[in-house]
Amino acid sequence: MISRRKLLKTLSSLPVIGGLAGAGLLTPQTIGANMAKPVGRNLFKELGLRTFINAAGTYTSMTGSMMPKEVVEAIKFGTTEYVDLDQLHDKVGERIANLLDCEYATVSSGAFGAMTIGLAGVICGMDQKKVAQLPDTTGLKNEVILQEAHDIGYTHALLNTGAKLVKVKTAKELEKKINDKTAMLWFLNANTDQGEVGYEEFVAIGRKHGIPTFIDCAADVPPVENLFKFTKLGFDLVAFSGGKGIRGPQSAGLLLGRKDLIKAARLHTPPRGTTIARGMKVNKEEVLGMMVALELYLNKDHKKEWELWENQIQLISDSATSVDGVESEIHVPPHANHVPSLKITWDQNKVKITPEEARKKLKEGHPSIATVGNKETIGITTWMMVPGQERIVAERLKEILANA
Ligand SMILES: *Cc1c(COP(=O)(O)O)cnc(C)c1O
Repeated sequence: MISRRKLLKTLSSLPVIGGLAGAGLLTPQTIGANMAKPVGRNLFKELGLRTFINAAGTYTSMTGSMMPKEVVEAIKFGTTEYVDLDQLHDKVGERIANLLDCEYATVSSGAFGAMTIGLAGVICGMDQKKVAQLPDTTGLKNEVILQEAHDIGYTHALLNTGAKLVKVKTAKELEKKINDKTAMLWFLNANTDQGEVGYEEFVAIGRKHGIPTFIDCAADVPPVENLFKFTKLGFDLVAFSGGKGIRGPQSAGLLLGRKDLIKAARLHTPPRGTTIARGMKVNKEEVLGMMVALELYLNKDHKKEWELWENQIQLISDSATSVDGVESEIHVPPHANHVPSLKITWDQNKVKITPEEARKKLKEGHPSIATVGNKETIGITTWMMVPGQERIVAERLKEILANA
C-alpha cells in the first residue's frame, strides 16, 4: 500500500484548485459536494421527470454521482476549442500516471470500457492486423482465467473482445488451466473475500507464467489509497469507474498500469475506426472532466468527509430507531462501496409496513428518496447526497415508520 508520505508528496504536487487553500475546513468543496447549480431551463421538469435524493449509492440506473462544479467547468472549457484527440489522451494519460504514481494511464469509457480495451490490448499488442481482426479471436490467445466467485456479470466487458472465460476455484486449479491460449488473469476486487486466491498469490501466478493480471476496482474508492495500491501490488492493469466515488463524468473511467499494454489498448479506441472499441469513445470534454475530478478527489479532505458520512448515518439511524420496534446496523462494506452504510429492520408486528412498501413510500413522497433494500431491510448511504439532505431522509423515514 502507498505510504502516507508518498501520498502526501503526490498531493502536494497537485495544482492548487480555487477555493481549496483552507482545505482543513469542511466546505462544500472539501467534501466534493460543490455541485454546479442548474440555471435556465429545468430540463428534467420539461421532460416530466422526477428528480430524487440519492440515499442509495452510486448506481448507474440512478445516474451515478454528481460532478463538482470544477468538473463541470472543465467540461465547459473543453467545448471552446479543438485539439487532437490522441494528443489530448497522451497528455492526460501522462498527468494521471504522474498523479497516481503508476507507469501509465488512460481515460476510458467507464470501468467497463477499460476492461474491454485493456483485454483487447493484451490480446493484440501493437499488431494492427490483430486489432482489426477482433472480435474474431481465431489463432489468438483468447482465454481469460478468473475465480468463479468473481464473476458477477461485469465480465461481459471481457467477452466483448471475443475472448472466453475460464472459471476456477483454487490457486492450483488456476495454474493448471494456464495454457498457450491464456491471454489474461482477471480479478474482481469487490469479491476479494469470496475467492480463495488473494492478491499476492494471484499476481505471483501471473508473473510466473508471464501472463498479465487485471483487477476491476470500479466502485472501490474510498479509500483514496486504492488508486495507488493495486499497481504497486503488481497488477498489470487496474480499472476504476470515473463516475462513482471519484465523481467524474458518469461515462468515463480510468485504466491504469503498464505502458505497453495501455498503448496497445488505445489502438482499439477512437479516433481509430475499424476496431471493437470505436463505440467506446470518450470526448475531449469528458477526458478533461475526468482529469479534474481525479485532481479534486486526491485533494479533498478524506478524513473530514468520512466524519461527515458517519454523522449523517448516525442521524438517520437515531431518527429511525426512535420509533418503537425499529433497529439499525451501521456497517462499512470491506472493498467496494466502502462507506458508512445503514441497514434498517423492524418488528412488523409493531411497525405494520414491509420494507418494500416503506421504500416505495420514500420514493413516491415529496421529495422523492431512493434507497436500496430487500424483503427484510432498507439500505441507506449518504455519500451521494448533497449535505443537508440527510435531515430530510431522517425525518421522512421516521414519519413513515411511526405512522405505519
Ligand atoms: C460499476 C461497475 C462496473 C462498471 O463500471 P462503469 O464505470 O459503469 O463502466 C464494473 N465492475 C464493477 C464491479 C462495478 O461495480
